[in-house]
Amino acid sequence: YRKILKSNPNCLSEDFYDQNIPEKDMFLYWSPKTADFYEVQSIVEFLRRKYPQAIHVAGGTHIDYNQEECVKVFDAIIVGPGERTMLQIIDNHIGGYLKQVYQDEWKHVHYKDFTFARRDFLPRETIVTDLFEKYGHPDSTCVLFSRGCPYRCSFCVYNTPNTLQVRQDVEAEINYLKNEYGISAINLKDEVCIGHSVKIYTPFLESVGNCGIMWRGQTIVGVPESLLDLAKESGCVELVLGVESVVQNVLDSINKRQTVKQCEETIEYLSKIGIKSRANIIFGLPNEPEDIVDKTIEFIERNKLDYVSVSGLCPVPGSDMYANPSKYGIRVIDKNWDRHAHLMFRYGDDEDHGLPFHFEKGFKQEEIINNMEGFSWKHQKFNALSVPEYSAGFTWIKNADNQEILNGPFPKY
Ligand code: SF4
Repeated sequence: YRKILKSNPNCLSEDFYDQNIPEKDMFLYWSPKTADFYEVQSIVEFLRRKYPQAIHVAGGTHIDYNQEECVKVFDAIIVGPGERTMLQIIDNHIGGYLKQVYQDEWKHVHYKDFTFARRDFLPRETIVTDLFEKYGHPDSTCVLFSRGCPYRCSFCVYNTPNTLQVRQDVEAEINYLKNEYGISAINLKDEVCIGHSVKIYTPFLESVGNCGIMWRGQTIVGVPESLLDLAKESGCVELVLGVESVVQNVLDSINKRQTVKQCEETIEYLSKIGIKSRANIIFGLPNEPEDIVDKTIEFIERNKLDYVSVSGLCPVPGSDMYANPSKYGIRVIDKNWDRHAHLMFRYGDDEDHGLPFHFEKGFKQEEIINNMEGFSWKHQKFNALSVPEYSAGFTWIKNADNQEILNGPFPKY
C-alpha cells in the first residue's frame, strides 16, 4: 500500500477504490510494520466505509506484541505463524463464527512443511521488477526461502522463530519463476539467507546453483568461507551484512554476537571471491563514542565496502530494547507509532529520522541526527566515489564539473 500511496498520492479518494470488487469476497490480510500502523489503520477505516462487509485480518510482529490495540482495528488477528490459522479463519468466517484472536506456535509450524506460493493471481508487473539495475537489469523478483534467526540482537524483532527454518523446495520455486515469468535474478528477503550450518546450507546453495540464476541476499558475518564460495558458485553477486556498528563496545551492548574483526574478515573474503558487500549501519545505538562518525568512515574506507545503508535506531515492540529500555540506558520510548521510522532500507527524504526514544545520558536526538547527517556529508566530501550507493535517501547527481557526487537530504554538517 505504501507503493500505491507513493505512486497515487490521492489514492484515498473514492475514485481510487471505485473498482468492481465483489464485496462478499473481500478478505484483506494486513501485515503492518510498527511505523506503518496508523497509516494501515486509516486505510482499513476507509475501506470499511466503502465495503462494510469486507473482512480485515492482520498478523506480523507488530500484531504479536500489540494485540489489545490491534483487535480494535481488525476483525481478526493472527498471533504467531499464520499458515494454519489463516485457513482456520477462512473456515470460521464462512461458518459464521469468526473469533478475534487466532494463535499458533512457531515450534509447531515449520516453514519447510509448506510449499511456495503461486503468484498466478497477481498482475505480472507486480512480480517482474528491476531489482538488479547495477547488474544489467535482468528480470527479477523477491523470494523468501527461509524464516527466523537464531540470534537475539536487542533492537531486532525479526528473530521469531528463534531458529532458521529453510524450505526444501527452492529449486522448484526458482524454476517456476523462470518458466512462468522469465525471471533470471532473485532478491532473497530472508533475514539470514546463509546461516552458519554447513549441513543445512550446502544443499540449499547447491539447489540455488542448479538453477543458473543471479541472486543477492542478506546474511550474518562469520559465515564459513566454504559456504561463501558455494554462494559465489551458485550465482550470488551481492550480500548485505548486518554490521550495525564499527565499535565493539556498542556491538556487545546490543547483544550483537559478532566482532568488528569478524566483520572485516567477512568483507575481505567477499571481496576476494568477487561478491559485493553492503554494510547496514545503525546510528543512535547505546554507548556510541563521541567520534562514531569518524570511526565509521574510517572502517568503510579501510575495508573498501561496496555499499552502505544507514538508518537510525528504532526500538520496536517485541525487541528486548523496547521491553527493557533501562537496560540500554534509554529513559523513554515514544508509543506514537508515527514517530517510528523504518529500520532498514526505507529511510528516505520523505520520511522523518524517527529516533522515537531518549537516552538517560549520552547522545541527544539532535546529536544522533547530526551524526547521521555528518556521516553522509563527511563521507561524500572525502571519498564519495568509494561508496557508490547509499539507501539513506541519497542519490547520485552530477556537480558543476560534471563529476558524480552524492546528493543527500542533509548537507549541512
Ligand atoms: S539483526 Fe539480524 S542477526 Fe540480529 S536478530 Fe535480527 S535478523 Fe537476527
